[in-house]
Amino acid sequence: MNCQLCGSDRPQLASAQIVPDFMLKYIQDEESGRAVMRVYDDESDQLLQVEEGGIEPDAELVCEACWTTIGEWDRYADRLMYQDSGLVIENMSVGDEESGTAEEAKVIRNVDYGRFKLFQLSLLWRMGASDVIPFEPIDIGIHRQRLAEMLRSRDPGAPEDFPCVMATIAPGGVHFVDFFDVRFWAERDVATTIELVSGGFVFRFFLGREVPKFTDRFALQQNGDLPLLQRHPGQLQGLMKLVGAEATADDA
Ligand SMILES: [Zn+2]
Repeated sequence: MNCQLCGSDRPQLASAQIVPDFMLKYIQDEESGRAVMRVYDDESDQLLQVEEGGIEPDAELVCEACWTTIGEWDRYADRLMYQDSGLVIENMSVGDEESGTAEEAKVIRNVDYGRFKLFQLSLLWRMGASDVIPFEPIDIGIHRQRLAEMLRSRDPGAPEDFPCVMATIAPGGVHFVDFFDVRFWAERDVATTIELVSGGFVFRFFLGREVPKFTDRFALQQNGDLPLLQRHPGQLQGLMKLVGAEATADDA
């Protein structure tokens, strides 16, 4: 089996996490890697089902060398998203108050554009290239090859290349980390949207010819500004809430 990123044949393949452990650790048991997922109804908040099962790594995706490279970007993202207390975070004005589209947002300054953008692109490529559950339905079509080329040459591209609009789920300042959801919409070859909710963050990727105009302002900027929209759990459609591995179906 070839590495799907660099194409090398008969390589030592890595055990590759599609969504990095640092975003999944809140919902997975450290030893077993298992998680308990509770699926709630959007409207009524009623519990629909309880599923057990973690998100398995993909053992058929990339070679050890490519995985090492991806790991460098993952480590930077982990520091930025969860550990870096020196971040400059400011409020930003978003949208248009007169038309009622204004909403709360923050911006993180001084982000390393190259490293964080490559992290975002690698996340998108991993979701699009992997066939492990729950990423199997995601199809990024013709974009897959271009993304792989950018990753291989460590080229983060311009802000408008595969823009990703991010949000945090932190109502009232409490960071909601134990949600997981991934969804995928495609309109023929024109526009594809992939949304990942994990570890308290939302990543919404836009691919195709018709990328919405607002991504100009809300994707990671070349000057290091990373806008973060603020989302309430109730604003996320169809969200699966995952609770800690110690929870059981009995206490549902
Ligand atoms: Zn490789």
